[in-house]
Amino acid sequence: MPPTFAQLGAPDFIVSALAQRGISQPFAIQAATVADALAGRDVCGRAPTGSGKTLAFGIPLVAGVGSAQPRKPRALVLAPTRELADQIKTELRTFAGKRRVGVAYGGVGYGSQIGSLRRGVDILVACPGRLEDLISQGEANLSAVDKVVIDEADRMADMGFIPAVRRLLDQTAAKRQTMLFSATLDGDVATLTRDYQHNPVRHEVGDTTPDVSAADHLFWSVARTDRTDICAEAIDAAGSTVVFCRTRHGCDRVAKQLNRRGVAAAALHGGRSQPQRTRALAEFTAGKVQALVATDVAARGIHVEGVGAVVHYDLAADHKTYLHRSGRTARAGLGGVVVSLIQPEQVKELKSMQRKMGLEQPVTDVDVAEIRQPSRSRTRRRTLEHSAAKRQSGRRRGSKNRSGSRGRQRSSQR
Ligand code: ADP
Ligand code: MG
Repeated sequence: MPPTFAQLGAPDFIVSALAQRGISQPFAIQAATVADALAGRDVCGRAPTGSGKTLAFGIPLVAGVGSAQPRKPRALVLAPTRELADQIKTELRTFAGKRRVGVAYGGVGYGSQIGSLRRGVDILVACPGRLEDLISQGEANLSAVDKVVIDEADRMADMGFIPAVRRLLDQTAAKRQTMLFSATLDGDVATLTRDYQHNPVRHEVGDTTPDVSAADHLFWSVARTDRTDICAEAIDAAGSTVVFCRTRHGCDRVAKQLNRRGVAAAALHGGRSQPQRTRALAEFTAGKVQALVATDVAARGIHVEGVGAVVHYDLAADHKTYLHRSGRTARAGLGGVVVSLIQPEQVKELKSMQRKMGLEQPVTDVDVAEIRQPSRSRTRRRTLEHSAAKRQSGRRRGSKNRSGSRGRQRSSQR
């Protein structure tokens, strides 16, 4: 029997708040780190997305944080994106009791963030840029911070935030507890650990890479110009779907085209204002839009329950990106489908990427029935029935030939 949260040392008010959300059995990374972190040790944790890292650091933070004076938070969580910071805040507040949890991130007005800092924020969840900004305005001061979490440290490094993270850590109390979580612990992340953690306990859970086998991976041969139609069908079949495009402009265009085909879609990328991004995510979470069309950066670390599919509208740049994108579905042990829309000239690149991930699925013709009924042995008949039904239902499609009409290849975009 794995230990309960109470056995790991979590205080009663946290245990009962979690129980109200139906959370009673710690996930592996939580079972591994919570007791050490509650004992005040530095923790360096590696675990794939969806493994429950937020509670792994959140429980010890909420349990041990002191009470803040105005502008002087006591605990700091650094996160790479606004959406992630918002999610962490929301999750922490479900069990924070009397502890005040605030945020600091860019793209929104300063008023409410400054207001809450002035009233006192015990746990501040922040993105590096806005936090440095608030510090330079004299609205935040980190000298009383004696608990620090660096979440998604690898992404922080990818996004060029390491120098800012260092500057911020240098302003916190010298005697502090530092927890670092990341999907990988090499490169810049290893350096952060070396320079800013004191004798950390290291806990690694799961594979070095996210678990690819949790989802069904499909690779469909699709002409560039047919991608939106196929994507619309995939979304219809899968329900809630995250669609990945390479560029911001691509996201906007695909979202618009999907909407025109009757699939409610919203774009999520760094070029949109914060209220727009927040609204897109809220609508997706609430099921008001079926598809979130996102860039890699914007989608990182976003957890939405029950994402049925991930569509790689544009092929991922490398296998790491493929894995991060695909990790938006099949989270927390639930199944999911990952569909890549492949053009013939991309097959070679794809094969080399697949080899690095141990995926061997061939590139096949489009078969939307595989999304509804992933068991391959049963799909053939259903495909035919399904396609017939689709045609009768009068769904408009750009091309009758779904099997990657190679002759009509165009490479216009961007
Ligand atoms: P990560 O940060 O590792 O990607 P999250 O902390 O976002 O993962 O957790 C993923 C999901 O699992 C969240 O919806 C969270 O509420 C849920 N979760 C976390 N821990 C547990 C648990 N012990 N039991 C049930 N659900 C959990
Ligand atoms: Mg997380």
